[in-house]
Amino acid sequence: MTRVLLTGGTGYIASHTAVALSERGHEVVLLDNFSNSERDVPERLRRLTGKAFPLIEADIRDVPTVTAALSAHPVDAVIHFAALKAVGESEADPLLYYDMNIIGTIRLLQAMQESGVRRIVFSSSATVYGQPDASPIQEDAPTRVQNIYGRTKLVMEDLIRDLARTGKLLAAANLRYFNPVGAHPSAMIGETPRGVPNNLMPYMTQVATGERPHLSVFGDDYDTPDGTGVRDYLHVMDLAEAHALALEHICAHEVSVTVNLGTGIGISVLDLVHAFERATGRKIPLKMSPRRPGDVASNYANPEAAARIFGWKVQRDVDDMCRDAWRWQAARAGINDV
Ligand code: NAD
Ligand code: UDP
Repeated sequence: MTRVLLTGGTGYIASHTAVALSERGHEVVLLDNFSNSERDVPERLRRLTGKAFPLIEADIRDVPTVTAALSAHPVDAVIHFAALKAVGESEADPLLYYDMNIIGTIRLLQAMQESGVRRIVFSSSATVYGQPDASPIQEDAPTRVQNIYGRTKLVMEDLIRDLARTGKLLAAANLRYFNPVGAHPSAMIGETPRGVPNNLMPYMTQVATGERPHLSVFGDDYDTPDGTGVRDYLHVMDLAEAHALALEHICAHEVSVTVNLGTGIGISVLDLVHAFERATGRKIPLKMSPRRPGDVASNYANPEAAARIFGWKVQRDVDDMCRDAWRWQAARAGINDV
């Protein structure tokens, strides 16, 4: 059993990870400033897991408050989710992203050092690979920063690797997520994007509820089997379980790793649309549109390292991802035919 603090603990991926950790017998403490999450998430987690996780409302940049929280709730490790994550916003306001993500991570690491917490799991992203030479992408592929968000992820990874290399951290996992989608099958927690969603799955679920008239397909002339962009979508509960396995591995062996978390399966925009229509019985009106600037044609993981190092294997397929994403969105929209 590990006691673990989740920064950004009420956010999309962290809330699912809290469930997975709790199911594996770990003790969870949540820390969030609610800048991008709903206030009722802790109560939803309590109903879902039967456990009331301690919650600290704080900003990760506030070292005294985070240090006090780590003293009130001593933990063995931190899983660091808290960050800003919108590529467009990062290009519009670079300093905001440097401050929240990079300075925020430095402040968190300072609070951890002051409190003697020396193990961390970090939410990185496949965005660090930028335009890859080829897919599947292995962890030793060159990193190519394409935007400010991606730069902050790479810097945060480097900070953590440096502290591990110099013995300041005993154990660290940089987890490079591909495209997390879906929700807990209970439909009690899920993703709540603010404003117009940037990502394909949340946008599509809002088309399915009738909140948006159609889905724009950004480019149908890529060098891919059907011309639309190919990505590696993975179910958020598979991703959540990977955090538990990574945490257990680095704590047991006191090692540092950098691994991809994806299924290894490339799925095109049209593949995902068709899977969604199949899983939900809803038709998604499409509008072919120009390519989105900065998009890569194809990007999917080689997930063998996560399987080899900590035994992670995905359990859920694209139909599960679509069904669970839809259950969550339909529940929020008050639609009862699922
Ligand atoms: P999210 O916005 O749902 O969760 C982030 C949480 O952090 C939110 O609850 C927010 O309120 C909180 N937060 C933000 N800044 C904070 C601060 N300064 N102090 C305290 N709390 C703060 O996002 P998510 O999709 O769950 O992403 C979690 C992590 O995974 C992020 O680091 C993100 O960059 C990374 N990631 C996400 C994806 C994705 O597609 N969702 C892909 C790759 C990597
Ligand atoms: N996409 C799309 N319409 C949308 C949103 C996304 O066609 O409204 C495409 C996008 O061009 C890409 C894929 O869907 O090929 C996944 O995009 P998303 O933003 O979800 O993930 P990312 O590009 O960050 O991997």
